[in-house]
Amino acid sequence: MSEMEAYSHERKRMVDKQMVRRGIRDERVLEAMLAIPRHEFVPPEQVHQAYVDAPLPIGNSQTISQPYIVALMTELLYLKGDETVLEIGTGSGYQAAILAHLAKKVYSIERIPELAERAQSLLHSLQLENIEVVVGDGSCGLPEHAPYQAIIVTASAPEVPKPLEDQLSDGGRLVVPVGSRVGQVLELWRREGQKLVCEKLAPVAFVPLIGEHAWSHE
Ligand code: SAM
Repeated sequence: MSEMEAYSHERKRMVDKQMVRRGIRDERVLEAMLAIPRHEFVPPEQVHQAYVDAPLPIGNSQTISQPYIVALMTELLYLKGDETVLEIGTGSGYQAAILAHLAKKVYSIERIPELAERAQSLLHSLQLENIEVVVGDGSCGLPEHAPYQAIIVTASAPEVPKPLEDQLSDGGRLVVPVGSRVGQVLELWRREGQKLVCEKLAPVAFVPLIGEHAWSHE
């Protein structure tokens, strides 16, 4: 059985119960969630939990996000297939894999080198070649490849990091959890020329974004 076929029943159940029933409608997003083997992105001791309706620990005090939140944030980006996407917070690489399935090119930044290396080698082994994982402070964005049609921040910020606003293309969409260290609101920002329009969506709880334009280490 190939990696993509393994756990396919669990993935189908996850998509039906956790996504379709909660209102995820974008067929391409649902198809990506069915295709990407989430169990490959969790530590061996978590494999039996890979498709449950919850975030899971991945080591280094970090988490792989709840599947529904991955689907929701991805749907909000309206990816059609020709976009260059920036992700902040590679973590396990799961969200990056979903994005790579739906867009032309994905740059994903992770501040913890061990996580970045593990994610890049897993993504390579799954033959997802349109993702580049970069070690660094994602709160500064990645100006060398800007502008991005979509930016997704998978860690929580006290406010939208200014460099990310600047690196969003006209018509581009930015999804980011904004709030305190313990609880946030998922925000969708859209650039319309010089103007940025914000929509506040759902309460969420992410690990903190730590960096120059986010939370400090302390
Ligand atoms: N998207 C990930 C996945 O699919 O597994 C989950 C991300 S996890 C909730 C948040 C990640 O953001 C952690 O791996 C953390 O190390 C990373 N992070 C925190 N601050 C960062 C920063 N300034 N730049 C890049 N990554 C950062």
